[in-house]
Amino acid sequence: MPRYLVGGDVDAWCNRCQLVLAHTIHAIVAGKIRRVHCNTCKQEHAFRTRAPGEKGAARERIRVRTAAPDYDALLRGRGLGDARPYSTRERFEAGALLSHPTFGLGVVTDTRDGRKIEVCFPQGARTLAQGR
Ligand SMILES: [Zn+2]
Repeated sequence: MPRYLVGGDVDAWCNRCQLVLAHTIHAIVAGKIRRVHCNTCKQEHAFRTRAPGEKGAARERIRVRTAAPDYDALLRGRGLGDARPYSTRERFEAGALLSHPTFGLGVVTDTRDGRKIEVCFPQGARTLAQGR
């Protein structure tokens, strides 16, 4: 365990940057780092070593949510009028638009062995069956 000093650097979670970044130590209480400030955004905050609530499952959910910005790029101004209704009997190519009764408008991002398609929906990516 390295010794920390006020004014020294430490890696900590920054809530504003949403990353673990180099921070400068502001306060140490009873041998523990209490307050730091982010060397990147200069915000002072409580010391955390990692993202709040970060566990395997939570991380997975965060990754799914980050699919949303891609979604708009994938649509490229297309809409429901360009989509075919989803059915397991249909076949879809990568880049095709489909409308799903539950998930809504989706963009096919990949096809797998002709039987499955990866589809990007507003809520995140899903794997669906096709050609059944
Ligand atoms: Zn920051």
